[in-house]
Amino acid sequence: MRVFPNLIGGEAAATEEVMANINPSDTRDIIGEFAVGTRSDVETAIAAAAAAFPLWSRTNALTRFEILDRIGSEICARSAEIGDMLAREEGKTLREATAEVLRAGQLFKFFAAEAYRANSEGLPSVRDQIGLTVSREPIGIVGIITPWNFPIAIPAWKIAPALAYGNTIVFKPAELVPGSAWLLADIINRSGLPKGAFNLVMGHGAVVGDAIVSSAKVAGVSFTGSTRVGKAIGHALFERGARMQLEMGGKNPLIVLDDAPLERAVDSALQGAFFSTGQRCTASSRLIVTPGIHDAFVTRLRERMAELVIGDARDPQTQIGPVVSEAQLAIDQHYLDIGRREGARLAQGGERLNPKAPGYYLNPALFTETTNRMTINRDEIFGPIAAVIPARDYEEALVIANDTEAGLSSGIVTRDSKIIRHFREHAEAGMIQVNLPTAGMDFHAPFTGRKQAGYGPAEKGSHAREFFTAVKVTHEQFI
Ligand code: NAD
Repeated sequence: MRVFPNLIGGEAAATEEVMANINPSDTRDIIGEFAVGTRSDVETAIAAAAAAFPLWSRTNALTRFEILDRIGSEICARSAEIGDMLAREEGKTLREATAEVLRAGQLFKFFAAEAYRANSEGLPSVRDQIGLTVSREPIGIVGIITPWNFPIAIPAWKIAPALAYGNTIVFKPAELVPGSAWLLADIINRSGLPKGAFNLVMGHGAVVGDAIVSSAKVAGVSFTGSTRVGKAIGHALFERGARMQLEMGGKNPLIVLDDAPLERAVDSALQGAFFSTGQRCTASSRLIVTPGIHDAFVTRLRERMAELVIGDARDPQTQIGPVVSEAQLAIDQHYLDIGRREGARLAQGGERLNPKAPGYYLNPALFTETTNRMTINRDEIFGPIAAVIPARDYEEALVIANDTEAGLSSGIVTRDSKIIRHFREHAEAGMIQVNLPTAGMDFHAPFTGRKQAGYGPAEKGSHAREFFTAVKVTHEQFI
């Protein structure tokens, strides 16, 4: 069995404990054994990142460009191989997994170019003979803590800007998906970065994650994961005056109005709710539908759901892979029970498929006749489960859409340009999708949630520099 070590200070770092990485499509398949880091491993990684900071933070733009571009090129060139690892360890279909890997490569290339952009600007002073400059500096050592559902894209969109703006890194991937993270870290490790500028410490959130969050030497933490963990981390970071960027859970609505083209509406719902097994923070789990299209929409969506090919993530025919783990499957089944108990009608799916097969297969489920007060429409389930919520008209649909603690992605399907404009202005979410699934954003655009879905500056795109740099203002008297 191959053992994958932590990568600290540019070197493989062995650990006493290792953790098996299990394929959720076939639990007999063990992908490898991955290091389980300790607090002391985190301290060693932080020391390495601190030692590398003076050199990396002063590296010129051309060197940064070349290193990031090299990383991006290798990721793209190996997208099939890394995509296979991603599909194998997370259960995302091969097509989605390979596309995610390519996106990670493109993100590095985008941030390679960002390394050239001006990081300071001159302002005219209001006083005579005074120079005024607003410059940006790297913040220092950053902790990067990521979830399991985008095992390479989310690490890439945090690591690439952190490096582009001159920071050094301690990276902790999610326990369930260390394989893609390790391949990414190995590429970064061989890219020509100074040793210690990037460190990978795998292991448990409560140990490795907590050690990163509580170290006074870590200037800021960029976290993506559940709202519960994000809030706890946020308190700890605030206490010690560190920066934070928290991207957390969603409960995203897709409004379907009477005038929506039926196939487009159904396709947006199908993709947004169930692709990636519904395990996306931007998944549309609440389908808010007006009366003129309601019945046709439900009928057609059920037909399309019944045609979905569910199976091994690495089988090219598969459209929906397994749920990521036994624990997540239990959570999904728990919410299916709650939905039924609270009076929702299970109109389609919801049963475990091939219960004897060594994989966590769940038939995507659709509830109808639900209200927005039901638990299934309040909590983020994070599985292939969606609910139809009837609404009288657009006005009521908008109120329902906004009635959530999360404000990540919000979608609408309609031809009415007046309504589209109104929705764009009044939807309480960081990201709006019109006549599209709620999931799926361009890699160079910012990514941001409102209310409890996000805290701190937006991620990705040029906006990333707001978190990964600190502003410094200089007034200078010419003498
Ligand atoms: P999670 O919160 O359980 O874990 C996320 C990461 O935090 C993991 O690496 C975990 O090990 C670590 N962690 C856990 N406890 C910690 C602690 N005490 N201190 C420090 N680190 C700790 O989330 P998950 O189950 O891996 O991912 C699913 C969640 O992520 C969902 O809620 C989903 O909505 C969210 N998510 C949000 C976005 C977004 O951009 N808004 C994107 C993807 C996923």
